[in-house]
Amino acid sequence: MLLVFPVWVLYGTVIIFGLILGSYLNSWMWRVHEREENESDSLPPAAHTPLPRSQRGMPLPGRSLCIHCQRQLAWFENIPLISFIALGGKCKTCKQAIPIDYFLVELGTALVMLVVVYLDVTRGVVNTWHIWRDLFFAALLVVVFIYDLKYYLIISGVVYAGAIIAFLVNHFALQFSTYSLVLGGVVGGGFFMLQYVLSRGRWIGGGDVRLGLMMGVLLGWPHILVALFVSYVLGAIVAVPLLIMKKKGMKSEIPFGTFLAVGTLVALFRGGQIINWYWGMMRW
Ligand SMILES: [Zn+2]
Repeated sequence: MLLVFPVWVLYGTVIIFGLILGSYLNSWMWRVHEREENESDSLPPAAHTPLPRSQRGMPLPGRSLCIHCQRQLAWFENIPLISFIALGGKCKTCKQAIPIDYFLVELGTALVMLVVVYLDVTRGVVNTWHIWRDLFFAALLVVVFIYDLKYYLIISGVVYAGAIIAFLVNHFALQFSTYSLVLGGVVGGGFFMLQYVLSRGRWIGGGDVRLGLMMGVLLGWPHILVALFVSYVLGAIVAVPLLIMKKKGMKSEIPFGTFLAVGTLVALFRGGQIINWYWGMMRW
């Protein structure tokens, strides 16, 4: 029913949509960060207070600018991937380098969207709500992944909005039980809340607690456990070599939201298989 046109049309559309979305997410994240920087720079350090809740996560208005000379970009400087290559990774006027991460976020977002659609349309039962939910949360998790990696922060507005949308879609459109969603949220949020309280905020930040809650409501019980497990395994794989090479001390911050974003995507698509595999192993 869904596939009345050739499959390459679907995947081609998804790639173009993913590139445009990646480009939008780039500028959105840059604007949110600039705004937070400006707000905190304008105040003396002692008087620094967090932004009012209503202003958090609100981007600056206006069109795309060069991040160095602030010149407004022409349409042909704004085409995902192609503009970066055509301009040789430099601004046309000020000749300063455009960071490669803008290019990588565009490419990465398109590839993530492609994989999401592929996995969802090759499921036994194709559900439109399922596909839209997964695309939305893949984009949200790209933001969490990049923003925490670059700025060591998980934007609370994004995570709270995600938790509400996840609950509504999962419960009303996808028939998840309230029990599964509430228990997932309590386990995900509670797991990090416990560490936060025990360490008085030294091991992890409040952003991780909120993200844990959202992960639980998105994945439900028991898939939240898969996300936590995968995130910790990935975190260890990346952090241990860094610790051995002494690039990061035990006290330096590791952007854990980045690993949680990957763990959440793995659990979203392969949570059931991983749980079955685990129980199969336990039986032996
Ligand atoms: Zn410039």
